[in-house]
Amino acid sequence: MINSPLGTVDILPDEAKFWTIFQQKARDVFGRYGYVEISTPLFEQTDLFVRGIGEATDVVSKEMFRVISGGNLEKVFAGEQIKAKSNLSLRPEGTAGVVRAVIQNGMLPQGSAPLKLMYAGPMFRAERPQDGRQRQFMQIGVECLGASEASIDAEGIIMLMRFYEALGFDTKKLNLVLNSMGCPKCRANYRKDLLEFLKKNEKDLCETCVERIEKNPLRTLDCKDEKCQKVLDGAPKISEYLCDDCKNHYEEVKSLLKNSGIKFIEDWKLVRGLDYYTRTVFEIQSGDVGAQDALCGGGRYDGLVKELGGNDTPGFGFALGYERTRLAMKNNGFEFEPAKTCDYFVAIASDGAKEKAFEVAQSLRDYGCNVEIDHQNRSLKSQFKLADKFMAKFTIIIGEDELKKGELCVRNMETHDQENIKQDKLFAFVEGKL
Ligand code: AMP
Repeated sequence: MINSPLGTVDILPDEAKFWTIFQQKARDVFGRYGYVEISTPLFEQTDLFVRGIGEATDVVSKEMFRVISGGNLEKVFAGEQIKAKSNLSLRPEGTAGVVRAVIQNGMLPQGSAPLKLMYAGPMFRAERPQDGRQRQFMQIGVECLGASEASIDAEGIIMLMRFYEALGFDTKKLNLVLNSMGCPKCRANYRKDLLEFLKKNEKDLCETCVERIEKNPLRTLDCKDEKCQKVLDGAPKISEYLCDDCKNHYEEVKSLLKNSGIKFIEDWKLVRGLDYYTRTVFEIQSGDVGAQDALCGGGRYDGLVKELGGNDTPGFGFALGYERTRLAMKNNGFEFEPAKTCDYFVAIASDGAKEKAFEVAQSLRDYGCNVEIDHQNRSLKSQFKLADKFMAKFTIIIGEDELKKGELCVRNMETHDQENIKQDKLFAFVEGKL
C-alpha cells in the first residue's frame, strides 16, 4: 500500500463539493468587482520565482519543489548543468505566474483601466507539515495590475471581507492586520537602521534571526520566538520612515476602510514573507485555527511587473488559503453539505418491475432530479435501507400492483406518508402540483 506523499491530503467527495462552492462564491463576489479568472501552469521556470519572490525568502531558498524531466534527471545526477528553460519548479504561490502570463500575453494595461484577475488552484511548498500547513494546498487569489491608487487596496480588502461574509463568517471575529512597508526609497533607510539595531542585539536573537540579519533583516520582525519579540519591541518602526507619498497612501487606505466600517489592527511588525511587497501589506487572522492563524495575506507590489520584465506597472493582490479557511469555518460550527444528495430512490418491489423502475429513474433524471436505483437485486428491505443511507427525500416503489394499475407508490421518507399516483402524473408530483 503506497500512501499519499507527506503534507498532502486527498480532497474527498464531501470536501470536493465544498471546494467547488468555495470557488464559486469567490467568482461571484470578486466578479462583482470586475475580476475575471485566469489559469496558469502548475510549474514555471525556477528563475521566475527567484526573481519574483526573492532569493533570500524561505519560500524560494528552502521550500520549492523542483521539477526535472526524466532526461534531465540523468544530467543532474551526473553533475551537469541544465538550461534555465529546463530548470523548473512547482509554483509556491500564484502572483509570479500570473504576472508572467500577463506580460507574455501582452495584457498589461497601458493607460487603460486596471487589469483585474483571479485564480484558484494548488500551490506547493516543502514546509514541515502541521495543522493548517501542507505541502500542497489550495489558494484563491486576485491580482489588480495598472493602478497605484489607495482606493484599489481598500476596494480589494473590502471585497475580501465580503467574500468571508458570503461564506458565512462573522467578520467581526476575523482580525484584519494592516501595515505599510513603504517604497524602496523609504525602506532602504529603514533597512539600514534595522540592520544596525539587529547587529547590536545579535546575542539576544534566535539562530534563525541571526541568519536573517544580513540576508533578509525585515523577516526577523515576524519571528515567533518570544525572546526575539521582546528584543524587537525596541526596534525602529517602519512607520517612522515612510516618505510623504507612502504616508498619504497609507492614510487614505485606512480612511477608506474606516468609512466602509471595516475594522483593522495596525501592526508595524507585519512584513509578510515575500520580497515583492511595497506600501500596503495585510493579513486576515483567525484565532480559531491554532498556530497557523493567517487565513489570507496580500498587499501592494509596485515593482514586481518591472522586475519580471514588463513595463513599470503597479499591482495589488492577495491570496487566501482554502484549507485554513475551511478549518476556521469548521471550528465555528459551520455545517458542510454532503456531496451526495438524492431526491428520489426508485425501489423495485418485484422482478417484473425492474424495467419500469429503470425507465422511471431515467425519466426523473432527464427531468433534472437526483435519482438512485438498486442495480444489485437487493431485497425491498435492503433497498429502503439504501434509500435512508442516501438520505432520499422520496422513495418510489414499483411492484406488480403498481404495474397492473399504471401507478407509482410514492413514500415521503421524512413523514413516512405513502400515496399512489398515476404514472403520467409523476412530473406534476415533482413540481408539487398534485
Ligand atoms: P502566502 O502566499 O504565504 O501569503 O499565503 C497566503 C495564504 O495561503 C495563507 O494565509 C494561508 O492561508 C495559505 N497558506 C500558505 N502556506 C500554506 C501551507 N503551507 N499550507 C496551507 N495553507 C497555506
